Amino acid sequence: MTAVHEPDSELPELGRTAQEFGDQPLEVRESTHYKHEYVQTFVDKWDELIDWRGRYESEGKFFVEQLRNRGVESVLDVATGTGFHSVRLLEEGFETVVSADGSAEMLAKAFANGMKFGGHILRVVQADWRWLNRDVHGEYDAIICLGNSFTHLFSEKDRRKALAEFYAMLKHDGVLILDQRNYDSILDNGFSSKHQYYYCGDDVVAEPEHVDEGLARFRYQFPDGSEYHLNMFPLRKDYTRRLMHEVGFQHIDTYGDFQSTYRDDEPDFFVHIAEKA
Ligand code: SAM
Repeated sequence: MTAVHEPDSELPELGRTAQEFGDQPLEVRESTHYKHEYVQTFVDKWDELIDWRGRYESEGKFFVEQLRNRGVESVLDVATGTGFHSVRLLEEGFETVVSADGSAEMLAKAFANGMKFGGHILRVVQADWRWLNRDVHGEYDAIICLGNSFTHLFSEKDRRKALAEFYAMLKHDGVLILDQRNYDSILDNGFSSKHQYYYCGDDVVAEPEHVDEGLARFRYQFPDGSEYHLNMFPLRKDYTRRLMHEVGFQHIDTYGDFQSTYRDDEPDFFVHIAEKA
């Protein structure tokens, strides 16, 4: 019998308002720390940050078409956040959409957003990717992990574990769609302000405060003067692709800002589409 690792059981679930990075924020490089980062007040501002309308326009039908072209009916959204993609897929008529996330704050907001935008009752499940199969049941045609979420894992062991859990929850011909910032460009060329467009509201400034090969610490400043941080691992594109191959995905296409051809330093975001068969 394997002991179940419950890393966060000491944390209060809802209502925290202050982020906790301690005295040495650049030393915070830990996969479970996302729970301290998505505090209630930040979650409340997250929709302002990601600007649903702008995002809807910038990504168009990209994900919907990728899923439809593969005959996908059931989708597990493993990084639901405030629910943007879960709601979008329900609106588009996907038969089964299950909305998972490790953050109770995010899921509460997602549930409210489902009701607000179209009266959808989201099927939410709190689950950490590293123990996904313990908390989420069933097999899915597709898993989506979007909005630069995978970047929250700080050790290769955790990344492999999460990808293996995703792989196991897909049907034999299932597909994983996972996106990430273009960290290669940030690490190699520095950050350009053009890189803000993908999912920020106009009034929110999102910039890296510190970047090294093991940490990208971003600062998010809101018009009311409040600011929050996220500590993330700067995934290099080919490294992510390699890990996906190594856990068993057979075929991986990587798009740059939703285009199949691009110069590596140009896109803000990469989207990996990894097929199991
Ligand atoms: N997909 C949403 C979007 O695009 O707006 C949310 C993106 S947000 C950057 C990252 C999400 O991943 C957060 O909701 C966070 O709680 C979740 N997350 C991070 N690490 C996780 C983990 N190990 N297990 C489950 N969820 C995790």
